[in-house]
Amino acid sequence: MAESSLPSTALPPATNSTTTTTTTTTTTTTNLDPSFYTWSAFFSILTGSASQSDRQRYFQYRDILYEDRDISRANADKEWLFKYSPVIRFLKHNIDLLGPTDGSATIGPHNVYCVRCDDNVRSGGFDAESGIQICANHIRTKAHLEDTIAHEMVHAHDHLRFKMDPYDLRHAACMEIRASTLSGECRWTREFFHRNQWGLTQQLQECVRRRAVLSVMARPAAGGDRKVAERAVDGVWKSCFGDTRPFDEIYR
Ligand SMILES: [Zn+2]
Repeated sequence: MAESSLPSTALPPATNSTTTTTTTTTTTTTNLDPSFYTWSAFFSILTGSASQSDRQRYFQYRDILYEDRDISRANADKEWLFKYSPVIRFLKHNIDLLGPTDGSATIGPHNVYCVRCDDNVRSGGFDAESGIQICANHIRTKAHLEDTIAHEMVHAHDHLRFKMDPYDLRHAACMEIRASTLSGECRWTREFFHRNQWGLTQQLQECVRRRAVLSVMARPAAGGDRKVAERAVDGVWKSCFGDTRPFDEIYR
């Protein structure tokens, strides 16, 4: 699971109700009230005076309003990335090498599904049966989509290569450490500009650890407990952060 990288104002408090393997599109019937979606509502969110529930309602309204646009843009970018992105093509090649020769485990545009997600916590998810789900409403740019697909493809690779058990928290922690390290989502520029979390040393490690803890925390087996998640991540850190397969090194 990739942690969504919305601006911090858009993030709800940590929740323990998310799962990593949902593959159904959520089309809830939120009461859409156009008078709520105004500049003054937007301004109160910017200035931090809006309540948590108003903030969530605002962003959900926006996501429903732009659902079609978000999804068709994500689909077009997805097609482009599978044709031209070196990292996506590299991961696809390595997944194909590990999977059965009939191609049944391949990842391609046909099983990367772009949908609108109701929660604000993640930007994608991988499911061994159905493929990759992308939360089109949480994707900001083509580069962000590239990182998100790469993150989930590292999960797909690990599923085939290591037979990982996502319900074992140490396995989950290892998967998240590798995915955040290798997908490129912890490149310092993106962290700096979008999350304002600039440390003078070890930016990459800190970013990977923070994202891994959040992702593990959101898994049902961790029950939203940060301490449990931190223990799982720290317990496997050394072996998993250093394991860059199938890459020769972290090059993103
Ligand atoms: Zn993940």
